Amino acid sequence: MIIVIKPHATQSQIDEVTAEVEKLGYTPHTISGALQTVVAAIGDETTHHTLESLNALAQVERVLPVQKRYKLASRESHPQPTVIDVDGVPMGGAALAVIAGPCSVESADQLLATARAVKAAGATLLRGGAYKPRTSPYEFQGLGKEGLRLLRAAKEETGLKIVTELLSEYDADIVAETADMLQIGARNSQNFRLLVAAARTGKPILLKRGMSQRIEEWLLSAEYILSSGNPNVMLCERGIRTFETYTRNTLDLAAVAAAKSESHLPVIVDPSQGCGRADLVPALCAGAVALGADGLIIEVHPNPAEALSDGQQQVDFGMFRQLMAGLEPFLKAVNKPGIHAASGSLATFDAASASA
Ligand code: PEP
Ligand code: MN
Repeated sequence: MIIVIKPHATQSQIDEVTAEVEKLGYTPHTISGALQTVVAAIGDETTHHTLESLNALAQVERVLPVQKRYKLASRESHPQPTVIDVDGVPMGGAALAVIAGPCSVESADQLLATARAVKAAGATLLRGGAYKPRTSPYEFQGLGKEGLRLLRAAKEETGLKIVTELLSEYDADIVAETADMLQIGARNSQNFRLLVAAARTGKPILLKRGMSQRIEEWLLSAEYILSSGNPNVMLCERGIRTFETYTRNTLDLAAVAAAKSESHLPVIVDPSQGCGRADLVPALCAGAVALGADGLIIEVHPNPAEALSDGQQQVDFGMFRQLMAGLEPFLKAVNKPGIHAASGSLATFDAASASA
């Protein structure tokens, strides 16, 4: 940590700071400039008292960290990109991963039809919420355990691995029995006990960015999972709240580029929550791929007009097929060889369109 002392502080005030630094277990090094003095405090903050408390001294202007607050999530700690293994299916790495499926699991027919359609169009994993975080308690809350049963049935038939949301730490065990990857939603991205409970299931975690979460805070949420002993975290940008109301959220593609350079964890984009409009989803997918996102999570429904949640932003099967085919030039532009197939092997574009 660097402690910046206010200009014109007296020597005894500077001495007070260095004495305090020592008391807290650090070694102070004083650097005196013409106008201002700074004190570098050498020591490990994970094992000593935080130095932020020195802000309370009147002669202290600022206390600045030298190291990143997120250690395990940072690229400094792990220069190579991490590839996550979702029960044999890689997420991250050279190829793109596409998670697709309905916002909510609504019925056996709806889920199975969607699972078949997204698989045929080349999706990597199946998504679908059994427990839904809804703004109003009067809206569809998800089918719960029955939804989990339907997800298992869809997996059995199609072989697609499952991504589903964990809404409460009380459900960690039962949701983890069905999920191959647990989704932590935007509204829970700073529910720290839930993050730890999710981490402890041992399942890979898809961590959405909170709708008002700074990039540093998002990476610190990932740090909660990593520091709980689970290395399999994938970050997901899903749009943040801004003054704009034309779109449901403002998809922050700069945060994707920033997270990719700050962290070794794979970063994917959710264009569906990101803009809340099906017509804009293909363009946002293209943009995300072009800037190097590791994957996409896209809401797909057999008949969006009848969806029980998020109908306005779900694409139908035809749109999804078209969108997938339209990614080819963007993948080529960033030297990605194709999309990971549901089996875990690499599906090139030719193979994906042949099976559609
Ligand atoms: C969802 O994926 O359906 C969802 C609720 O996402 P978010 O947590 O990003 O709002
Ligand atoms: Mn949704």
